[in-house]
Amino acid sequence: MYAEAHDLVTAPPTTAVRLEGVFKTYGSGSREVGALRDVSVAIPAVSFTAVMGPSGSGKSTLLHCAAGLDSPTAGRIVLGGTEISALRPKALTKFRRDRLGFVFQAYNLLPHLTVAQNVTLPLLLGGREVDRGWFDHVIEAVGLADLTGRKPAELSGGQQQRAAIARALVARPDVIFADEPTGALDSRTGRQVLDLLRYTASELAQTVVMVTHDPVAASYADRVLFLADGQLVGSMEDPDSQRIADRMTHLGAW
Ligand code: ADP
Ligand code: MG
Repeated sequence: MYAEAHDLVTAPPTTAVRLEGVFKTYGSGSREVGALRDVSVAIPAVSFTAVMGPSGSGKSTLLHCAAGLDSPTAGRIVLGGTEISALRPKALTKFRRDRLGFVFQAYNLLPHLTVAQNVTLPLLLGGREVDRGWFDHVIEAVGLADLTGRKPAELSGGQQQRAAIARALVARPDVIFADEPTGALDSRTGRQVLDLLRYTASELAQTVVMVTHDPVAASYADRVLFLADGQLVGSMEDPDSQRIADRMTHLGAW
């Protein structure tokens, strides 16, 4: 059965990632830390979502659990139609490789490979073909068209991070997860990376989830989720950096 056109128009946006009652506890006994405490949220597809909170609030833990890099102590995580929290390790590894993209503060590029080789490596490891047209489009979008033959050491930090974003994009993932992607960059270079993530969601129709402690970085998103002490404590649509900073102050989160 195909949906009628008017159904498509009025249908709510699809959910890319859903967390249901997620807990993550580290350690035990007197050393027990509740890094996530009953987090439930739906992240819409084809959007840019920022998760904002002070250091130690559970941002990285949330991202790692949502992306299947770590398993929750309790609760469910559903990505697309798949409950990843129920997958066995091998299936989870394959799911991550085939369906998700990652951008971390450290660029994690392989030093002996060129930009082009780094960008296409995950596809080759997954036994997938490189779509030449899409590769060219992505490389152009990240501004590295003239630098594809360079090694990471021959690139600036911002260029390396843009190569890492190209590597995430080239596989057309369901979701790109970014953890403090501008954390190692100066503010001007950081803004270029944030513009690129913004463009990725708006123009390349990707889903981006970024965790950050920086109100300026979060202001590039469509929606900000606020995390404090392992719990979601609010959200903001169409944010700007001043309102984000104000909200953080009111949450007593700094
Ligand atoms: P954020 O990314 O917001 O700074 P994290 O998710 O890294 O926060 O950490 C949340 C809490 O969980 C912190 O109290 C941190 O010390 C704790 N934590 C994170 N990872 C571990 C771990 N592997 N073992 C023990 N405690 C951890
Ligand atoms: Mg962190």
